[in-house]
Amino acid sequence: MTQALTELQTSDLQHVWHPCSQMKDYEQFPPIVIKKGQGVWLYDEKDQRYLDAVSSWWVNLFGHANPRISQALSDQAFTLEHAIFANFSHEPAIKLAQKLVALTPEGLNKVFFADNGSSAIEIALKMSFQYHMQTGKTSKKRFLALTDAYHGETLGALSVGGVDLYNEVYQPLLLDTVRAQGPDCYRCPFKEQPVSCQAQCISFVAKELAIHHTEISAVIIEPLIQAAAGMKMYPPIYLKQLRELCTQYDVHLIADEIAVGFGRTGTMFACEQAAITPDFMCLSKGLTGGYLPLSAVVTSNKVYNAFYDDYGTMKAFLHSHSYTGNTLACRVALEVLTMFEEEQYIDIVQEKGERMDKLARAAFNQLPYVGEYRQVGLVGAIELVANAVTKQALPSEERIGYQIYKRALAKGLLIRPLGNVLYFMPPYIITDEEMTFMIDTAKETILQFFAEWEG
Ligand SMILES: *Cc1c(COP(=O)(O)O)cnc(C)c1O
Repeated sequence: MTQALTELQTSDLQHVWHPCSQMKDYEQFPPIVIKKGQGVWLYDEKDQRYLDAVSSWWVNLFGHANPRISQALSDQAFTLEHAIFANFSHEPAIKLAQKLVALTPEGLNKVFFADNGSSAIEIALKMSFQYHMQTGKTSKKRFLALTDAYHGETLGALSVGGVDLYNEVYQPLLLDTVRAQGPDCYRCPFKEQPVSCQAQCISFVAKELAIHHTEISAVIIEPLIQAAAGMKMYPPIYLKQLRELCTQYDVHLIADEIAVGFGRTGTMFACEQAAITPDFMCLSKGLTGGYLPLSAVVTSNKVYNAFYDDYGTMKAFLHSHSYTGNTLACRVALEVLTMFEEEQYIDIVQEKGERMDKLARAAFNQLPYVGEYRQVGLVGAIELVANAVTKQALPSEERIGYQIYKRALAKGLLIRPLGNVLYFMPPYIITDEEMTFMIDTAKETILQFFAEWEG
């Protein structure tokens, strides 16, 4: 990467502050300026292409510049781009809400829109709290979240997050959250086996709920995959037991399906695999297939009714965003959901998931420094460790995941690491040939990196 910078790269470094980045790193590794996308591929200014194996931060479902979605967006843009959503409405939002209610688990009936995932989390937290204030449970002022949880980066969302990398510096500003140790199947403290797992680790949550339930408004969780934590996966039985505990203690369950919703885990929503209905489901990312920012909180009539009264009682939920229910985003989301119906994408995810599982296990299971390959639906993760027997972690200061990421990019593969976990979360339209390229290139890069690292 010692090539001269292009004009755009120079200007970027002068004016842009990028997310999730130490900007000093960009001096050695300048931003890659993407000029077009097609299917799973991103093309830079110099026509070098990258297979987007992370779906551009988990948002893209049906490929870049998808003709069907682009057409729907374009048509809508020439009709109505946006209208105020208080007292006004529009067909795309109405039809989208209707579809979301139909698709989400039985008992979720009302849709509140926002424009990004973190805002959806803030809304669910605020609604849960206000519900309890308005139904006489005024001691319920705290939330319970799991270790290693990720729910976004606004202050409320950070408060329930548990990834130190994002939280630590802001700790003095955050809410006082009750924390329970989450599932850790790779390093299971109960030595349970996946096939016979009874989720004994739910006892950590059970213990905190037994102590604190009168103060707790809601438990928030990422169903089946703690994604930002390093694609930590756990079985549906954990969710089933958590649902029972929440009901027993009169505590809401907030399912953050922002990363796992819309087919990622092989079902439309991860909660389906546990056959549970949360009190709130937060949705975003894949909702618009990676086109536009949009999010939604879907909740029950029971919650809705606690806010429904004469104006003077001041029970309304007054939360709003300028772009609430944005027409273009709703129209795109509607197209995405229609594509799920018409093009059987859940079946496609399952088929492609099986293929990826086979290829990846063959490629990675015996590789040095691979502690584990794990997969759910179309999310696969490689946990790199110093020692596969002791499961000892690699030294984090060497930024091995990041080194491998940079090398993979030079070979045309975009796999962003989470610490020393590499993962695949490709768009659902990935072809067999592209999937083979993805797995082979990742394997080659890992092998080459460690050969040099050791030498
Ligand atoms: C990405 C993500 C969020 C935050 O969404 P943003 O749109 O980035 O604010 C929240 N929860 C989970 C599980 C996520 O993956």
